[in-house]
Amino acid sequence: MTTPTISRDRIRSIAQREAQAFLQARPQSARLAEQTEQHYLFGVPLHWMADWGTPVPLFVERAQGAHFTDVDGHEYADFCLGDTGAMFGHSPSPVAQRLATAAFTGYTAMLPTADAAIAGKSLTERFGLPFWQLATTATDANRFVVRWARAITERKKILVFNGCYHGTIDDVFVDLNPNDPSAPPSTRASLLGQVYDLTQFTDVVEFNDIEAVREKLASREFACVLTEPALTNCGMVLPRNGFLAQLREACDATGTLLVFDETHTISAGYSGYTGLCDFLPDMLVAGKAIAGGLPCAVYGMSESIAQRMRTAKEIAPPGHSGIGTTLSGNMLTMALLATNLTEVATKEAFNQIIVQQSKLSAGLRDIIDRNALSWSVTQLGARSEFQFCATSPKNGSEAETAMDAELEQAIHLYLLNRGVMITPFHNMTLVCPETSDADIEQFLMAFESCVKELCQP
Ligand code: PMP
Repeated sequence: MTTPTISRDRIRSIAQREAQAFLQARPQSARLAEQTEQHYLFGVPLHWMADWGTPVPLFVERAQGAHFTDVDGHEYADFCLGDTGAMFGHSPSPVAQRLATAAFTGYTAMLPTADAAIAGKSLTERFGLPFWQLATTATDANRFVVRWARAITERKKILVFNGCYHGTIDDVFVDLNPNDPSAPPSTRASLLGQVYDLTQFTDVVEFNDIEAVREKLASREFACVLTEPALTNCGMVLPRNGFLAQLREACDATGTLLVFDETHTISAGYSGYTGLCDFLPDMLVAGKAIAGGLPCAVYGMSESIAQRMRTAKEIAPPGHSGIGTTLSGNMLTMALLATNLTEVATKEAFNQIIVQQSKLSAGLRDIIDRNALSWSVTQLGARSEFQFCATSPKNGSEAETAMDAELEQAIHLYLLNRGVMITPFHNMTLVCPETSDADIEQFLMAFESCVKELCQP
């Protein structure tokens, strides 16, 4: 069977037809869009909500478990899950119940509660790092970690991997030149209002290129390497051939901290990707799903890093550390974090979601093979990504090259019209404990009929 050519005309005509069908079947969403346009910039509370490629934003009525219902009464199997926030299902019961009772006992006092003790113990047991701090978003946690790393190493630079994303922490938006990777890196052109030259203190190399890492770190100028253990935001890129262990060694040899951002890679298992490694990072960040989808993020650190952080704080002149936000670790958040860690994000839940994702990934691969497409599926526990390249990419540049926004949007819209939602901006699918075989079947059927239409001559 020869690889079919998917013509641009076919992609566009499918996208157009699906956009029309979307609009026709969603009069309530269209009506609400008219109202919100009058009060919100870009018509939505956060401008990303207008980036889904739908003709009007899809307004949600309610969400529960693996499903949500829109305001026009359509039900969807949700494989986006709030881009990970709802990875343990929408409104997981234990968190919802705790939320209901905690609603009457105070939200924020800038003081710890007994839940802090439960959550702290649970984080240490899970990830293996002894000490923790709270933040409100993963972005903030990454920002604070970078500040601490710079403070304790007294080094200014950080090293990241091409195609990385760690939230809107400015420092990481530095890219290799796609046409000439040996050219000096540059600050990402799409950033709005960024006036600093980010390349001054941030350098970037390709993921899985240990020689490039070693060469950079040899200067001993880098406070930390900040990375996801597998890249998940430029498509998906898994670490290869002992890359992470070598990265650990390269960091140790040069006094550079190794920071794992596990915000997405927690999908790999109960202890995140860290649980699959036979070493620990110096610091670890998690957010989004960690408190069941309510705003909360955590960062952990080893004993020796904690000691250096204490010392840095002691010897700093009195005044503001520049690290922290008022609502971080508030009473309500700590209650939900403790509940989610101990009752929802359990080992059993992880076993369940990894089994279900394996079924979905196998089904997607099968459809791709049967239709002779040069696409691949990369799985990381409960998460997978189908990419428009024959084999899983080995770095950010390869992943970037495999992207095709037009094709992606046509597929996403096609799926939405058939009651299946996946993450926008790339082809990420995530399952939660309630994702059933029937949900997976629905996804695969819609995907296959989409692929068949795309491949028609
Ligand atoms: N780290 C990673 C790896 C992420 O993917 C994201 C968000 N996609 C973040 C951090 C930032 O999360 P938030 O937007 O909740 O701050």
